[in-house]
Amino acid sequence: MATKRDYYDILGIPRNSGADDIKKAYRKMAIKYHPDKNPGDKEAEEKFKEAAEAYEVLSDAEKRRRYDQYGHQGAGFGGGRGGGFSGGGMSMEDIFEQFGDVFGGHNPFESFFGGARSGGGRRVNRGSNLRIKIKLTLEEIVKGVEKTIKVNKLITCPVCTGTGAKDGGAYRTCPTCHGAGSVRRVTNTILGQMQTTSTCPACHGEGQVITDKCTSCNGEGVTRGEETITINIPPGVTDGMQLSMSGKGNAAQRGGVPGDLIILIEEIEHATLKRDGNNVVYDLHISFIDAALGTSVEVPIVDGKARIKIDPGTQSGKILRLKGKGIPEVNGYAKGDQLVYVNIWTPKNLSQEERDVLEKLRGSDNFAPHPDKKDKSFFERMKEYFE
Ligand SMILES: [Zn+2]
Ligand SMILES: [Zn+2]
Repeated sequence: MATKRDYYDILGIPRNSGADDIKKAYRKMAIKYHPDKNPGDKEAEEKFKEAAEAYEVLSDAEKRRRYDQYGHQGAGFGGGRGGGFSGGGMSMEDIFEQFGDVFGGHNPFESFFGGARSGGGRRVNRGSNLRIKIKLTLEEIVKGVEKTIKVNKLITCPVCTGTGAKDGGAYRTCPTCHGAGSVRRVTNTILGQMQTTSTCPACHGEGQVITDKCTSCNGEGVTRGEETITINIPPGVTDGMQLSMSGKGNAAQRGGVPGDLIILIEEIEHATLKRDGNNVVYDLHISFIDAALGTSVEVPIVDGKARIKIDPGTQSGKILRLKGKGIPEVNGYAKGDQLVYVNIWTPKNLSQEERDVLEKLRGSDNFAPHPDKKDKSFFERMKEYFE
C-alpha cells in the first residue's frame, strides 16, 4: 500500500486549525476536485477522495485526537479493520453523504447521481445545473434576505410546450422499442444464449419519436430565455457557501427534468466591521484621556449603532463583548457576538500648551505603568478568544 499523506498537508492547513478552517479548506478542495468538474480525471478523483478522508477524520474530535497521537493507524483508515473503513478509504456514496454536513444542509452536487442512467428503462433527459453568484452585504447575511433576480437560461419552449414536436402533438411512440426506451438483444455464445439490454438507437431511450419538429426550438423542446427567480437566503451564510434550488436550473430537452440552480455566496466587505466566523469585530480607537477618565462611545453594529461604556482606567487591548450582536449560525439557533477591540490612541501632534500640560503629568507616579497582576496579558486574552 502506498504511503498515506498527512491529513493536514492534504487540506493545506496548520495542525492547530479550528473546526471552521478545516471545513473551509475541505469545501475548497471538494469543489476544485469534484468529479462533476473533472470528468474522467483519475488524479482529481484521487485528490477528491483523499480530501474527503482527511476531512472525515479531522472533523471528528475523537478521530482527530487519535490521528494526532497515533497517525493513520489511530484514525481507522490505516488498513487495519475495525475503524469502519479499511485501506481503500471512503466510497463515493460516503463522500456525498458527508456533504450535507459540509455544505450546511445544501449539497451543491446532489444532482451528481441523479442524471439519466443508460442501460435498461426509459431515459429521462436532465437539464444541466446553472451556477450564479450572489453578493451579499454583512447586514443581509445577518438578517437573511430574499433576492429576486433575472436568470438567463434554457427554458421550456413555449411553442411546443417542451415536447419538441410541431404544434405539441407531432410525435408517436417509438416503433423500434415500442416506448420502452431500450432494446433487448439475444446472442448465441458457447455458454448458451446471452441477453443484453441497450438504449434504443432510434429514440435514444426517450420512447417517443418526433414526426414533425417544432420549428421554434428545432425539436429540442428548449429555448434561451429569462426567468425571474426569488431566492430565499437564510441568515448566517458564509462566503463560498453554495445553496442549491432544485429544478431551477436549465430546462431539459423534450420535457425532461430541469437541472438545479446553484447559488454561490459572496460577501461584500463591510466598511468598518470585520467578520470572524460568526463574530463581528470592530476596532475602536479612544484617546488616552477617555481611557483614563472613562466615557461612553457609540460604535457601529450590524443593524445600527450601540452605545458602550468605557470604564475609567481602561487598558489598551481590552476586548468588550456585545453578546448576541454577531451573526446567527446558518440553520441553527446560536448567534455570534460583536467584539470591540479597544485601542488607545496616542496623539502624534501636540501644541506647546498641550506639551506643557503633559510634561507636568510625566513625573506623577499615577502615570507610570503599574500593570495589574489580575489583568490578563495580551497573550492570555488572545488564547481565550481563539479557543
Ligand atoms: Zn418548440
Ligand atoms: Zn425507441
